[in-house]
Amino acid sequence: MLSALITSSSLAIASLLIGFALFVAWWQFGRRIHALIWAFSFMAATIGHGARIIGGPLSGHNDLLAMLACHASVASFAFLAWGFGLRAGRDNRLTFAFWGVATLALLLCYFMIGGAEGRMLNRIITAGADAAMVAIIVATIKAASRRALMLRFLFVGYGAYICSVAATAWLARDGGMIGGPVFFAVLSIGTPTGMIATGLLTLLIVAADLAEELRRQAIADPLTGLLNRRGLEQQVAPIFASSRAVRRPLVVVLADIDHFKSINDQLGHAAGDAVIRAFAAHLHSIGRKGDLVARIGGEEFALVLPGREVHEAVALVESLREGVPAALRGIASADRITASFGIALVSDGETFEVTLGRADTALYRSKKGGRNAVTLEPPPELARAV
Ligand code: GH3
Ligand code: MG
Ligand code: MG
Repeated sequence: MLSALITSSSLAIASLLIGFALFVAWWQFGRRIHALIWAFSFMAATIGHGARIIGGPLSGHNDLLAMLACHASVASFAFLAWGFGLRAGRDNRLTFAFWGVATLALLLCYFMIGGAEGRMLNRIITAGADAAMVAIIVATIKAASRRALMLRFLFVGYGAYICSVAATAWLARDGGMIGGPVFFAVLSIGTPTGMIATGLLTLLIVAADLAEELRRQAIADPLTGLLNRRGLEQQVAPIFASSRAVRRPLVVVLADIDHFKSINDQLGHAAGDAVIRAFAAHLHSIGRKGDLVARIGGEEFALVLPGREVHEAVALVESLREGVPAALRGIASADRITASFGIALVSDGETFEVTLGRADTALYRSKKGGRNAVTLEPPPELARAV
């Protein structure tokens, strides 16, 4: 009796602590609603263990509190599944349906059947509903990464354990093959493990999601959604390496809006921003898979185009340039807007910085020549040959 009391008490405290940790994670890590719902899951578990403490050995095994503990267990798993559904952007109707059915079944069992049979059925219903919630969780985890696969594997194991609890509850019924203590032994082995593992996993998921988002933000330009300079430098390295390895042509393009300062001056900064966004969308629209488009300065953009011969790249950039006035027409009531471009073909062994510098030289020549132009800066070896 004392050991059951101690187990339930330590479980109540542990789930309270995990719930609190998830609440803090929700509060501190961008208020993701699923983290809050997960916190509720562990709070519900605390209520369940509390009901077991009061309703069990302390009050001569009170059936009403035992039934409430079953409700709390189902609620705890339902909150867990609901949180996973929200995180995956899934519809949660199935979770709510199982929750509703299980709640109703538990109440019916308590009021209509009662006694030892009612208790046994309540345990089976609870374990069945919990297992169904775990199945829903497994279905929401997209197994695209090793992390997701591991998560799935762990939850499948947890689901299998919960099914074994249901089976043990059935076997431990009055006149069944095994005694009540075996059921409680099975329950006490798996419950702390499952709860603490789930708590740690959910906390890790919240932290890993935050780290992922920060990584994404660090390489993205907030105004246009394109890569920023850091993102470009990160992503360009493997493209340079693979192009060199298979001797595939690689072209770097710089683009800069003409007389942009006057747009800002005449129409205001917000209008300037709208023009930058529309220009970014225009550049992005011509890209194909494997191309990189980045905003590397105020209204300066870089494109990295692997696998295009230089004449193809020049034709593409020409069509881009021609399309600029139409793409930006009517944006923030600006007059005809044009842009200038500089192109550099990556030559053998050249670093990205060097190629970018040559593209910049080409862009400067486009500007100097009167703007609204495309200039190709040949690689040094070709320039020498000319
Ligand atoms: P040029 O034809 O020689 O390129 O002339 P320009 O006026 O476009 O000159 P430049 O490229 O130097 O102008 C850059 C201007 O872009 C200066 C700065 O005020 C503005 N700018 C930089 N970042 C932003 C931004 O995020 N939003 C807005 N609206 N303006 C920006
Ligand atoms: Mg400019
Ligand atoms: Mg500029």
